Parts: sequence; structure tokens; C-alpha cells
Amino acid sequence: MTEKKKIAIIGGGISGLSALHFIRYRYPKSCDVRLYEKDSRLGGTIGTDRINGFVSDWGSNGFLNKVPLTLQMVSELGLDDMLYPAHPSAEKRFIYRNKKLHEIHASPPKFMRSQILTVGGRMRLAMEPFIPKKKDDSDESIFDFAKRRIGRDAAEHMIVPMVSGVYGGDAHKLSLEACFPIMVEMEREYGSLFKALLAKKKAGSKAGPAGPSGRLTSFKNGLATIIETMHDKYKDFIVTGRGVKKIARNGDKYTLEFDSGSPEIFDAVICAAPAYAATDMVAGMDKEMSEVLRSIPYVSIAVVCSGYKKEDIAHDLAGFGFLIPRNQDKRILGTIWSSSIFTDRSPEGMVQLRTMIGGATDPGAAELSDGELADITHRELGDILGISAKPGYLRIFKWSRGIPQFTVGHPARMRKFHNILQKYPGLYFTGNAYKGVSLNDCIVRSDEVVGELAGRFDFQPVAK
Ligand SMILES: Cc1cc2nc3c(=O)[nH]c(=O)nc-3n(C[C@H](O)[C@H](O)[C@H](O)COP(=O)(O)OP(=O)(O)OC[C@H]3O[C@@H](n4cnc5c(N)ncnc54)[C@H](O)[C@@H]3O)c2cc1C
Repeated sequence: MTEKKKIAIIGGGISGLSALHFIRYRYPKSCDVRLYEKDSRLGGTIGTDRINGFVSDWGSNGFLNKVPLTLQMVSELGLDDMLYPAHPSAEKRFIYRNKKLHEIHASPPKFMRSQILTVGGRMRLAMEPFIPKKKDDSDESIFDFAKRRIGRDAAEHMIVPMVSGVYGGDAHKLSLEACFPIMVEMEREYGSLFKALLAKKKAGSKAGPAGPSGRLTSFKNGLATIIETMHDKYKDFIVTGRGVKKIARNGDKYTLEFDSGSPEIFDAVICAAPAYAATDMVAGMDKEMSEVLRSIPYVSIAVVCSGYKKEDIAHDLAGFGFLIPRNQDKRILGTIWSSSIFTDRSPEGMVQLRTMIGGATDPGAAELSDGELADITHRELGDILGISAKPGYLRIFKWSRGIPQFTVGHPARMRKFHNILQKYPGLYFTGNAYKGVSLNDCIVRSDEVVGELAGRFDFQPVAK
């Protein structure tokens, strides 16, 4: 009988944990696997506070239920009954402009009557099908693409806030190809976004201008449910409080050095730590690899969860929430009406609002004190929603390097990274820094690397 392969996973966020799940679920007999997490807890930027009837997620608050692999993993973990899709009435999304919230309508006639854009902006948007497509394949910022295709007004008042809502990012700096490859394809294939949307609609796709396809989904008791379940299920294969300091090549194996205890040798390593942490781990082994990892910037971001009495808010909060363009004299990026989306996120008679501050366009914000963040949030929410009393509940989560930024040039950097990795068979990278930042992206990426690893060693899946 051949000896079992020894596999290490570095990092216990959703990327590392889903890699562990795929290995244990599919190939439990083929290898010995260990996941090393430097912190005393698992989850990375995923966590949930449950206090006095409020359920507040620290970072991500859900995933879109459009990726079958994520739902399959949830099912394999026995969590089907705990799935908690957003309430259907929480679909309406708003943009704040000129001191008012404007609903983003999916229907073109309604959209054209709304005041999100100026009359000129709406007319320019309607010209989109007649704008010629880009002639070359060079990478372009999201803002430049949007301005070119749908005009400056729509770029500033719809695309900029969307990019700050998803990436905490600056649309002027982020790469269209890396962040929204589908847009590049739509323009390339159909010559126009409208034409592409029409064709997709005919083919039955539900994607629309009001929001992404798929419904935001979490778990009863918050997103950390999935992390807690994986911890319970796989605790024998997880070592917390042990960080990896160094990855070194050792013939066709890899040696890991830790921040405590002796080094260990593995047949393969899956690094699921953030790119900035991986930078130092590989610096001694491959300077070029380390430099590519270092070149992926991260932005800081703060999440402010506030609980108010329902009666203290004039707005009915019927919807998902709103985003704010950067030129509207507000510091908050936007607010999700958590207890409208997931109705049990606050106790009876109370509501919970979840506000993001910081990101690429306001780099110092997440470093403000809790008091300052609470004041800014309360003051600005008060103006927008008509709030007459202070919040009775407050939780603030700050992420100093919260979300990686796929800046212009990211696709080329990733091609270079891929080429460098060809020299290191058995070393894999997953996580939110490479192909996509969403939970779905992280899970899909971890599935890919586990597939590559299984192929390399010819692991045989167990029959289910
Ligand atoms: C505020 C915020 C809101 C978000 N909202 C959403 C959302 O609504 N929907 C969505 O889909 N996505 C959202 N995201 C993105 C998503 O949550 C993340 O991209 C995803 O959770 C990242 O998971 P990860 O495992 O790749 O990285 P991380 O969560 O960063 O985990 C990496 C792990 O590696 C560990 N580590 C670091 N160094 C070492 C070392 N030397 N040795 C061992 N371990 C190490 C860390 O401690 C950490 O536990 C949000 C992110 C943030 C910050």
C-alpha cells in the first residue's frame, strides 16, 4: 500500500476551510491533511456577534445563492435547514443623490423616469447600444469603461457606489477585466451591454441592472454558522494558534516553519492566507513570487452595526439598503437594512442597520475611534433616513487590510504568478486575492486547487 500524502493548508478563513472540506469529503483515505491557523479562532473576516437579540456579522453577511458548488458544500455540511435567504420584499435597492434616496428600477421605462441620473445622463445612457466597442484588449479601469459606454453621470452615480459597496474600492483604479470579466465579454461578444442583456434575458438569465443575479443568503444565527460547523466537523484536522512563517522547497516536498514548534515536511501545501501574509512566507524561496503577492493592495474598511427602535426612524426601510456616490458629501459608503433582509437580525420592535465606512477612497476612516465612527454613522444616517434618537445597540468591526484590490494590471500580474507557480508543483494558492473576493469566488477557487492537487497525486474520491 502506498503511503498517504501529507498535505498542509495555511489559513482558516472560508478559503482554507472549504479546501479542507473538499479534501476530507472527497478524499478522506488518500491523504493526511492539517490546517494551520495563526489566530486562536477560525473564520478570518467572517464572524458573528449574537447579543440581546441582535445578530451582527463582522465582515461578510452572506453569499449569492447562484453558485451550485457553494450550495452543494452547504448541503454536504448538513446545513440545508439553516439556510436563510433574504426576504423577497427586501429586493429594492436605492442610490442616494441630491439629498434623496432613489430606487434603482429594473424596468427601463421606470428607470428613465427616476432621478438617479440627470436628464442628460439618462439620454447618454440610452445611447449605449450605439457606442462602438473597444478596439484593443488592454486592461481598463471600471470607471473608464463605464464612462465610455454609459456616460460620466451613470459612471459617477451608479458604478462608483456599486464598486465601493462590493470592493470598498475605487472604480478609477480597479481593473474591469479582473473585477467584472463578464462586462468585457458582453462588450466583446455583443458590442453593447444593453444588447448583451437583452440576449441574456431572451435566453432566460435573471441578471438585471437593479442588482446581481442570485439572492443574498446567510444562515439562521448569522454567517459564522458555516465556520462553526466546519470547526466542529473537522477539529481533528485543524491546529489554531499556529502561524506559518516560512514555506521552503525541499526536493519535491515543502518544509513549513511555524511561529512555534518544529518545522514539518509536506508533500503539498495549499496557502489560503491573505496575499500580504503569503508575501513573507515565500520571500526566502522565490523573490519574484513574493513581489507579485506584495503588489496586491488591500484596503481598510469598517462595519458599523446600529440598532434603533423602529419608531425612531421615519423611513420605512422597505428594501435592501442604499449606496452613496462619492460626490454627495457623505462619508459612509452605504447601508444595508439588515433586519429588513434577514428579519430576525434584531429583537421585536427594533431594526438593525449595517453601514460601511472607509475603503480605497477614504483610507483613514477605518482607523478612526469607535466613538468617531459611531458619530459619523449616526449623523449621516439621521440625515438620510430621518432618525430621531441615538442607537440603543452598536457594534463596530474594523478591518485594517479587509479587502484585496484587483487594480488595473491585475490580470497580467496573475498570469505572471501562474507562470512562476509552474516551477513549484505541489504548491497552491487559494483565497480572495486572486480571482474574486466573494465567498462564492473563494469556494470555487478552493475547489479548483483541490482538484489540481488530487490530479497531481491521483487521489481517488470515495463513493458517496
Ligand atoms: C467588511 C467585509 C464585508 C464583506 N461582505 C461580503 C459579502 O457580503 N459577500 C461576500 O461574498 N463576500 C464579502 N466579503 C468578502 C469575503 O468575506 C472575503 O473575501 C472572504 O471571507 C475571504 O476569505 P479567505 O479565507 O480568503 O481570507 P480570510 O478571511 O482573510 O482568511 C485568511 C486566514 O488566514 C489566516 N492567516 C494569516 N496569516 C497566517 C499565517 N501566517 N499562518 C496561518 N494562518 C494565517 C488569517 O488569520 C485568516 O484566518 C466581505 C469582506 C469584508 C472585509
